[in-house]
Amino acid sequence: MQNDNKNLVSLLSCKSYEYKYDAVRSVINRSVENLGGWSLFVSPGEKVLLKVNLVMKKAPELAATSHPVFVQAVSDLLMEQGVQVIIGDSPGGLFTENRLKAIYQVCGMKEAAEKSGAKLNYNVGYSEVKNPNGRLLKRLTNINVLREVDKVINLSKLKTHGMMRMTGAVKNMFGTIPGTLKAEYHLNRSEPEDFADALIDIYLCANPVLSFIDGIVAMEGDGPTSGTPRNVGVVIASQDAFAMDFAASAIIGAAPQSIPTVKRSIDRGLCETDISNISFVGDSLQSFILDDFKAPVVKLINPLSGDYPHFIRKLVDSTCQPRPIFLHQKCIGCEDCYKNCPPSAIYMKERRPYVDLEKCIRCFCCQELCPKKAVEIKRPLLFRFLTKS
Ligand code: SF4
Ligand code: SF4
Repeated sequence: MQNDNKNLVSLLSCKSYEYKYDAVRSVINRSVENLGGWSLFVSPGEKVLLKVNLVMKKAPELAATSHPVFVQAVSDLLMEQGVQVIIGDSPGGLFTENRLKAIYQVCGMKEAAEKSGAKLNYNVGYSEVKNPNGRLLKRLTNINVLREVDKVINLSKLKTHGMMRMTGAVKNMFGTIPGTLKAEYHLNRSEPEDFADALIDIYLCANPVLSFIDGIVAMEGDGPTSGTPRNVGVVIASQDAFAMDFAASAIIGAAPQSIPTVKRSIDRGLCETDISNISFVGDSLQSFILDDFKAPVVKLINPLSGDYPHFIRKLVDSTCQPRPIFLHQKCIGCEDCYKNCPPSAIYMKERRPYVDLEKCIRCFCCQELCPKKAVEIKRPLLFRFLTKS
């Protein structure tokens, strides 16, 4: 049985920026007590997938991935409830056992699993499933480990995102779409609000019973993988991912309408329109709000209002939208950007990538997946003028 107060959001300060186990564990436990206690979400004997964020093979201190101390603490607390825990995610790129092994090792998940006794997911199967609660995606393909477990707990990080401006609890469920298939979901929904609708449908399909946003150390600037770690010192928990993403947007000083997943969840009636209608417990929201959190460069939504011919829209897009720039001196020619570009807008010449801007949909997956920070997003002059940035 879950809490009747569905949009209850717990906010707790966790100033232990070095992820000290005892402090983090205590804050996580208090967060769940704030929501009514573990027994509202899990029961002894159940199997739970802890859906972490392992977007790519990066060390925990870079703040691109779930922190192992946070993961270990949640796993330990769940196992004390008599629950079996599987830690898993489908990172960008190939979804194979060997790749998972390398990512678990570098991201610290292997150690977190060993210390807590949780299992790491190596089931790389996936299948098409019905999604009756979805609006756009009535069917979708997601990872089979979802069918191995009784419940899913969503463990996301507070980060900026080049396409969606922020990645929080709802966006974290995109990792239930297997590896390279993610590109298809991007390609079919190249506008941020359409993609946000797809993300909401993917979240509804995975249906986590409880979500956390780890904002102890967040990422600002060029997230979700190339930004800068930023101490925010907050742990957000709720069974309502929409309400907690709304709270997270307030914390990073972003208007809810500027974050496509928050905007569309409000438009679809899944989230309160006014933050004052969300119930908070714990520390005050006001105490976490930042006015200098560095936003990413994002695609402009509808830079032209009104009816204009397609070629004018194309022209405005090509002159004012931000674009990926490949820094060939940093590039190692791994081809990750080339292999994962949703519309195949990247071509390789002498082991270096180039982009066809006519094809580019500005999803910024190339920047997200580059292991060498060799992709930057350039803001043309017109973009700076339109956004006053
Ligand atoms: S070049 Fe980069 S930003 Fe453009 S479509 Fe490909 S992955 Fe997305
Ligand atoms: S730009 Fe990055 S992802 Fe693309 S080939 Fe170079 S190193 Fe690899």
